[in-house]
Amino acid sequence: MDYSQYSVVVVGSGFFGSVIAERVASELERKVLVIEKRNHIGGNCFSEIDPETGIEFHTYGTHIFHTSNEKVWNYIHKFTEFNNYFHQVLTTYKNKVYQMPINLETINQFYNVNLKPFEVDDFLAKEKAKDKIASPPKNFEEKAISLIGRPLYEAFIRGYTKKQWNKDPKDLPEFILNRLPIRKNYNESYYYSRWQGIPKDGYGKIFERMLSNPLITTQLNTNYFDIKDKISKDAILVYSGPLDQFFDYKFGKLEYRTLRFESEVHPYEDYLGTSVMNFAEESVPFTRIHEPRHLHPERTYGQKTLTIKEFSSLDDGTNPYYPINDEKNSNLVKKYREEAQSLKNVYISGRLGDYKYFDMHETIASALGLFEDKIRPSLKA
Ligand SMILES: Cc1cc2nc3c(=O)[nH]c(=O)nc-3n(C[C@H](O)[C@H](O)[C@H](O)COP(=O)(O)OP(=O)(O)OC[C@H]3O[C@@H](n4cnc5c(N)ncnc54)[C@H](O)[C@@H]3O)c2cc1C
Repeated sequence: MDYSQYSVVVVGSGFFGSVIAERVASELERKVLVIEKRNHIGGNCFSEIDPETGIEFHTYGTHIFHTSNEKVWNYIHKFTEFNNYFHQVLTTYKNKVYQMPINLETINQFYNVNLKPFEVDDFLAKEKAKDKIASPPKNFEEKAISLIGRPLYEAFIRGYTKKQWNKDPKDLPEFILNRLPIRKNYNESYYYSRWQGIPKDGYGKIFERMLSNPLITTQLNTNYFDIKDKISKDAILVYSGPLDQFFDYKFGKLEYRTLRFESEVHPYEDYLGTSVMNFAEESVPFTRIHEPRHLHPERTYGQKTLTIKEFSSLDDGTNPYYPINDEKNSNLVKKYREEAQSLKNVYISGRLGDYKYFDMHETIASALGLFEDKIRPSLKA
């Protein structure tokens, strides 16, 4: 492979890298090389077909596309149509099923009352006052209780958070809890976004179409760090891998939470009755069960169904999923970002490069922005 022929090299074929590659090839008609260390394109949005049931599932966790950004919605429509899937989340606590995020139905069912929307604030204020939490709250638990009161916190937040972080919420900083949305009505849509859905032909097809331009070469099973010396020094490099790895961890490693999945096939057409069910209690070892057949209500699947249990843990460096935005990691990111700014023709971004949790529409918007603001002007010059 002659790496020197490419004026743009993109590391990573997730949404960030694929948008950049697609824009450079179709808008600027330049050759682009996409390097991907995995054996497939699409990054964490990759989906597969379960061989036993024929049901499509998302390999790295269920991905629901949603956005209110018209530019992103128009852009993604060049590569896919969406079905009419509507995302709703339920949670099981003590053998009963409740709506999440907490809404009027959750509150009424949990307390066995029949509050009206205008009565919720007073009701919760009395619940919160019972604990007399001093302001400002000292930890996650105090903050949660100060927002929703102890009973709702202990039922729906405490056990789930402990499983997510493998830490008692008393030992978690208060700032990781920005807000606990409480809905004072019966709205059960998980997202407030203007548009939502699942790609009709699956996520894989989006990436195939984005990278199908003959000016784009995609090299799978290739780690950038193994070939970086072969890339032309004049090429623009867009790197969407881990920020700390780019600098050989010189200031230290950034920490992540990760997920582990366990699949099961059941001899029923429907097991959960919904696409995702949270399990709030600490005694249940997993955080959620997914049932991917519900993501495609427009498809006809067979008599068996697939479920996937989700377990949460700290990442050992193999599967970085969710950044941990505590003080230690934020300070490290600052140092790495300062280094990154001194590099010429190198753009480090995407969810791993920015060390930020981005939903897909935010990743796409960020890549479109980088293309317009930096890459288009520098390749035109
Ligand atoms: C469990 C989970 C569930 C999610 N659910 C949703 C959801 O429901 N809705 C939503 O909008 N968003 C969701 N997201 C967010 C979504 O996954 C991200 O917005 C999106 O994947 C970010 O794209 P990216 O290209 O930045 O990163 P990635 O998809 O991670 O792509 C980065 C790519 O770079 C490759 N790479 C890294 N290092 C190297 C290297 N050295 N050499 C070569 N290749 C390399 C990786 O293999 C990977 O393919 C979820 C995320 C997670 C973790």
